Amino acid sequence: MTLRAEPRDTSSVDEVLDFLADRPLVALTGAGLSTDSGIPDYRGPGAPVRMPMTYQEFVSGPVPQQRYWARSHLGWARMGHAEPNAGHRAMARLDPDLLITQNVDGLHEAAGSRQVVALHGRVSEVVCLGCGAITPRAALQERLAELNAGWLAEHASAAMRPDGDVELEETDGFVVPGCDGCGGLLKPHVVFFGENVPAERVARCYAAVEALGDDGVLLVAGSSLTVMSGLRFVKRAARAGTPVVIVNRGTTRGDDHATYTLAVGCSEFLTDLVERRG
Ligand SMILES: [Zn+2]
Repeated sequence: MTLRAEPRDTSSVDEVLDFLADRPLVALTGAGLSTDSGIPDYRGPGAPVRMPMTYQEFVSGPVPQQRYWARSHLGWARMGHAEPNAGHRAMARLDPDLLITQNVDGLHEAAGSRQVVALHGRVSEVVCLGCGAITPRAALQERLAELNAGWLAEHASAAMRPDGDVELEETDGFVVPGCDGCGGLLKPHVVFFGENVPAERVARCYAAVEALGDDGVLLVAGSSLTVMSGLRFVKRAARAGTPVVIVNRGTTRGDDHATYTLAVGCSEFLTDLVERRG
């Protein structure tokens, strides 16, 4: 791997806007799209380096579950207030053939995007690993608040992470309820590290990327493509001869497959692109 000291910017914004003006689009978005909504990009510059909890750790026993839900309880209280930004609104107006997002914050949907695959799920839902029931995260938040009165106020200063988690080490005594129906283990309905994206979700994305052919474009916005779950669509497009455009402030693992890369902010670029496409 080559380290580059300068942010790369191989193309002019106008050139890329022209290229994207008339072509069918599939979009792939990541954390960089939500930073303007106050949700920090934990892979971005200056971000704390800490691995998220893996699926295997989460299911291994009550202590990690307590730690996860205690942090999530705090994070939810704040992420719940995040609003879609100009980038989300522009993406809704662009209305790509399919919008694949790695974000779990639900802000694309909140901005009005309709054809959305939330690749890694949504933090707004909870799944029971016992019976499979899916319930709103908001309802669980109320139960957590009742069972852990005072917890939020006591830990109000903890720093937030983009997956709705917070920096918090001391979680002893936090009470985690089971499923209302079966008492089973409740997990956020998001794909953890160590867990696979459901196959039908992946298949829908591949189909949309393959349908682009030579005429369409896979537009990546605000993702460093660090994880294979997103990078594989870039690779698939490149292999098929479908142009790939990457708009991201830092280098990405997909740069070698890109027709154009632009190191600019997503909100500004997408807003310009809406204007260009009319
Ligand atoms: Zn259940």
